[in-house]
Amino acid sequence: DEMDVDTIWMDGEFVDWDEAQVHVLTHGLHYGSGVFEGARCYDTAEGPAIFRWEEHLERLFQSAKPYDMDIDYTKEELTEATKELIQRQDLESCYIRPISFYGYNSLGVSPKDCPTETAIAVWPWGAYLGEEALEEGIEVMISSWRKHASSQIPTNAKTTGLYVNSMLAGEEARRNGYAEAIVLNKEGNVAEGPGENIFLVRDGELHTPGLSESILDGITRDTVIEIAEDLGYTVHDGASISRGELNTADELFFTGSAAEVTPIRKVDNVVIGDGSRGPITEEIQQRFFEVVERETDEYDEWFEYV
Ligand code: PMP
Repeated sequence: DEMDVDTIWMDGEFVDWDEAQVHVLTHGLHYGSGVFEGARCYDTAEGPAIFRWEEHLERLFQSAKPYDMDIDYTKEELTEATKELIQRQDLESCYIRPISFYGYNSLGVSPKDCPTETAIAVWPWGAYLGEEALEEGIEVMISSWRKHASSQIPTNAKTTGLYVNSMLAGEEARRNGYAEAIVLNKEGNVAEGPGENIFLVRDGELHTPGLSESILDGITRDTVIEIAEDLGYTVHDGASISRGELNTADELFFTGSAAEVTPIRKVDNVVIGDGSRGPITEEIQQRFFEVVERETDEYDEWFEYV
């Protein structure tokens, strides 16, 4: 199979990759009524360790709330299933994708009587935007698409249906030769990437859009705020960042469980800083990898050993 794994956990069972299927009349397929997570397990000296698993599980359950979706498994059961998937497939590091969605019952928009189905897949996944992106930075495009406003749909819930917006923005950027998009919110301020939060560095301080800017409450965002503050940086969490401020930033970078810490070297055709990974971005990125790979014994509470 393409993903180099052969087992997926589905509703309490470990099933063969080929058999992990759903019915074509699944509610979630028609209406985007799924909630999901993306976490990483890192290879550490003490074995595979899932980074901030508790926070990812917590966000999964929180994401389900506005949709009145009951996930039929406890956090402990999902944790055991995930660990067993990683163990069974002898993975040292991997990406972890839990998903819960409304299954088939009737095809009305109301999910009444639809079962909630839950699955977990794990697979090896390298740098999301490429290894080179981590070092050289990427060129991004301001999308012509705006983010959903949080008054229109809960943007702090990681819902499958939201990602058609991410797809539109990301693919528009890639068609135009960029690696990724930056998406503005309804007010025209900087929100986030299609699957990343964004940070701006100016005069030695960090700025990142706040939750009221219609962003996902990223766990890597939270991690970077904490490690940057521990490195002595001032972080303005909750900044409202205008489009123009991107151009004049000293440095910009994306954060995400998949994207980790990815520098941005150009926005549209404007060079950011000196057009390469900035020094503060580099310091934070280095520290990030030191932390997640457990080369420091700090932040012990962030790890769930497999
Ligand atoms: N924003 C969006 C829209 C995302 O999909 C993601 C990835 N989950 C992020 C931000 C970053 O969140 P995290 O650091 O928790 O992965």
